[in-house]
Amino acid sequence: MALIVQKYGGTSVGSIERIQEVANKIIKYRQEGHDIVVVVSAMSGETNRLLALAKEINPHPRGRELDVLLSTGEQVTIALLCMTLQQMGIPAQSYTGSQVKILTDDTHNKARIMQIDHEKIQQTLAEGRVVVVAGFQGCDENGNITTLGRGGSDTTAVALAAALKADECQIYTDVDGVYTTDPRVVPEARRLDRITFEEMLEMASLGAKVLQIRSVEFAGKYNVPLRVLSSFTEGGGTLITSEEPSMEQALISGIAFNRDEAKLTILGVPDQPGVAHKILGPIAKQNIEIDMIIQNTGRDATTDFTFTVHRNDHQTALKLLEETAVSLGAREVTSNDRIAKISLVGVGMRSHAGIASTMFETLAQENINISMISTSEIKISVVVDEKYLELGVRALHNAFQLEQSN
Ligand code: ADP
Ligand code: ASP
Ligand code: MG
Repeated sequence: MALIVQKYGGTSVGSIERIQEVANKIIKYRQEGHDIVVVVSAMSGETNRLLALAKEINPHPRGRELDVLLSTGEQVTIALLCMTLQQMGIPAQSYTGSQVKILTDDTHNKARIMQIDHEKIQQTLAEGRVVVVAGFQGCDENGNITTLGRGGSDTTAVALAAALKADECQIYTDVDGVYTTDPRVVPEARRLDRITFEEMLEMASLGAKVLQIRSVEFAGKYNVPLRVLSSFTEGGGTLITSEEPSMEQALISGIAFNRDEAKLTILGVPDQPGVAHKILGPIAKQNIEIDMIIQNTGRDATTDFTFTVHRNDHQTALKLLEETAVSLGAREVTSNDRIAKISLVGVGMRSHAGIASTMFETLAQENINISMISTSEIKISVVVDEKYLELGVRALHNAFQLEQSN
């Protein structure tokens, strides 16, 4: 008998029929004798619908009230799933994040889990019930409802699995595992049987939304056996593992991409010490995260400076940069939010040269201009015009022969 935490995403609980399918899956595991804790997301589209309602009132609603609103989506699903299980004769009990309780810090809309009081869950399991917990939410020390950022139910599930020392955490979604790239963009993408935490972390942070990045961080830190599977079809899915890569490790495990960034450039700033700080300091002060940064070689005692931020922060960053431009006597500020970042990820890259050059050659053959590059030991990212994103990803998938198993 094992303790299994299962998480079902929005599409998996998108209708009453789907919820009944989920209940059948849960019952199957229960009949095998396992204890089951289920984490559910809001029904598909619900979080977006609630967000749009809030934004009709105020484009920047107060974080606390937004969390009160957004957390209702998951509350609906826990109730419906429990009712369905009970209707099928299975004892089940629902818990919101505050009821569990999942204690977070007070950063509304992107709170971090600090502690989970798992006694209530263990007691409910001991009573022979299926425990159903609302994903994506918790509460701070003062009892305020918080949410964990988009895709946060994955993190709820992994954090619960860690707190309960579960034997496995299963993330059920609408694809049957982690692929070499998003199968909706490259139909030839190949499902991976396993991927290392390190690579999954890189894929998630570079845009592969199949798992929220924090969930992978948690799983790596607490060694939670994590698996991504389909709630629609049978199959073993993808195991996220801490195993060392084998000798035949593929150079590239996958391609991640995102359209979430905007690029800002300040031209003709004085090329002297302290300028980078003067440009980026005010932006960091506003809690805006900066991703890629490029500073050109100086000419005529001036230089140009380009960096990227999340698209949601584009306008705020632009305003700050324009103010800095005035105080530094810069020539011009430009920005573009129609960019995309494409990244090759693979631990096998560490020991191989030449990957960057194949990447650049492939993009050049498609006439895709690269405007920024950043590299680490296990990834290479480039920024391109958003309209070339899909073409670029497909060309790279093909060039590195990712559709073939290695
Ligand atoms: P859920 O609602 O179940 O949490 P998400 O939409 O958050 O599901 O995540 C699943 C989606 O992630 C898939 O439908 C797929 O389009 C996307 N995705 C992006 N990159 C990958 C990848 N490398 N492998 C699998 N799916 C991916
Ligand atoms: N419902 C939330 C979202 O759409 C959390 C989740 O699905 O994981 O982002
Ligand atoms: Mg998700």
